[in-house]
Amino acid sequence: MIHSQSYKWFIETTTPFEGHMHAIARTLVETQTKFQHVEILQTAAYGKTLVLDGRIQSSQGDEFIYHEALVHPGMLAVEAAPRSALVIGGGEGATLREILRYSTVTRAVMVDIDREVVDLCKIHLSEMHRGAFEDRRTELRHEDARAYLEGTQDRFDFISVDLVEPLEEGPACMLFTKEFYTLVRDRLTPCGTMTMQAGMTKVGELAFFSSIHRTLREVFPVVAGYQSFISCFGTPWGFIVASKKVDPTRQDAQTVDRLIAERVKDPLEYWDGATHQHAFGLPKFIRKAVAQQTRVVTDANPLIVS
Ligand code: SAM
Repeated sequence: MIHSQSYKWFIETTTPFEGHMHAIARTLVETQTKFQHVEILQTAAYGKTLVLDGRIQSSQGDEFIYHEALVHPGMLAVEAAPRSALVIGGGEGATLREILRYSTVTRAVMVDIDREVVDLCKIHLSEMHRGAFEDRRTELRHEDARAYLEGTQDRFDFISVDLVEPLEEGPACMLFTKEFYTLVRDRLTPCGTMTMQAGMTKVGELAFFSSIHRTLREVFPVVAGYQSFISCFGTPWGFIVASKKVDPTRQDAQTVDRLIAERVKDPLEYWDGATHQHAFGLPKFIRKAVAQQTRVVTDANPLIVS
């Protein structure tokens, strides 16, 4: 019989007044890089788990939910089959892995500021990247993704913003603003899409999701929020598709299933037509928070989470 008392516990404070606990079987990595504090924990319930600055990024047990939700709604809303993609952040390489499932993709660039984090993920999280860094279509860069977007003239069919939350003193603060999303839009092809993780969608914690949604509506003609329950976070999590043309909320279940069959090489574990309908069918209190939000996040007034 397993006794919970025999474990050390990792406690993630999700809000100043709530948290989520994980029993730690083993600590594989604990170090400080130039940009952030990194832990890779072997948790008893979810297997290997990446933690940056005290926040769980993903776990072996349920990362397929997070990464399929982050990639496929955007890739399936690119009008013609996507050929090029950019991952902004992306540490573990699992976002890249999902993009590389599309055989039409000939170029996948990933820009993560922190080489040390990516190197640790390469060594310890092969279950997550599954060789994505070695794929001949992958181009891995280590620099600030905003600086990269400012400097490149390249255009992408799909851009996935897979960043850590904008913590004060963290590396991602200036990548959640109207000016940043304008840069993203301008680097997309005419029928391109962007997806991003957009924070919790639980009761009382909708300020982040709704203000990012409001900010994106300043920049993109189509903005559609959706959510998935991420077990290792212990909370439903918000995502957003911002699109120049196709509106994913107008794609019915049959269309999504057909596009997956046409575009995606291997079977998916989470995303399909039924999941799509469920995820985009946001409940009334979330729709209300989004409709009532007036805040536009700008470089002069960035959004910082504590
Ligand atoms: N799955 C995660 C989650 O829970 O949101 C996020 C994935 S990933 C680990 C986030 C990555 O964003 C980190 O590896 C971090 O180094 C990277 N990052 C943070 N700020 C960045 C910046 N300014 N430019 C590029 N990458 C950045």
